[in-house]
Amino acid sequence: AILLRDMTDRQHLDRMRADFVANASHELRTPLASITGYIETLQGPARTDEAARGRFLGRMLEQAHRMRRLIDDLLSLSRVEMNVHRTPSGVVDLSEIARYGCEMMTSASKAEECEIRVDAPAAAPVVGDRDELLQVVQNLIENALKYGRSNKGIDITVGVDAARRRVSLSVRDYGRGIAEEHLPRLTERFYRVSEQESRSRGGTGLGLAIVKHILLRHGADLDIESRMGHGATFTIAMPAAGELTAAAE
Ligand code: ADP
Repeated sequence: AILLRDMTDRQHLDRMRADFVANASHELRTPLASITGYIETLQGPARTDEAARGRFLGRMLEQAHRMRRLIDDLLSLSRVEMNVHRTPSGVVDLSEIARYGCEMMTSASKAEECEIRVDAPAAAPVVGDRDELLQVVQNLIENALKYGRSNKGIDITVGVDAARRRVSLSVRDYGRGIAEEHLPRLTERFYRVSEQESRSRGGTGLGLAIVKHILLRHGADLDIESRMGHGATFTIAMPAAGELTAAAE
């Protein structure tokens, strides 16, 4: 029976891998087809059309940037996946990461006219990889800015539960929220509530898949809570590390 289960697990994995390659190829092929189309038009019908040339070059650049983002995200995902069984060993401060991540997103939040507030204790020590946890925070803030826009801003809260020795970090927006049926699937690769919206906001559909894999490696949980019309809250929770100071309690 165990052997049988191993086989089905293997087949399932093979299947997922094949699907992933097909999806990734499709995602790359779309902007490539569009760039090729513009080149053909510029070589043919629009050969002498100055105005069209400027416009088309702009669109080609947009599509090239989209391919670039996809490749960057695919590489990030593969890097994280390769490390998934290697548990991190350094102690880092989730409060500092929350503040720093927020700072890194300042210009994006200014562009969206969206205020980001951080409420974090003096220190929230966890065992982790700083760069990866920073990427998690950034991805969550980026999504809140992209999909959770409202005039109420974004709240980032770090909490330390000294009794249970857990540290949590949540990113909350007050946008239109996510319908319940989507919640369990959001961290799947290339899953989007609206492909059109994700695309127009520069999304690749890989952000939350990267987040999930980083958290897996950290032994951390991801909880997504949302109601239509009431925004969304993404909360990560993981074991606390080292001495928790009184101030953190
Ligand atoms: P993308 O590159 O499309 O942003 P993600 O994996 O980061 O990919 O997110 C997957 C999908 O989850 C998004 O396309 C969007 O539909 C939905 N989503 C993520 N964060 C939020 C949020 N804060 N509010 C509403 N929808 C969200």
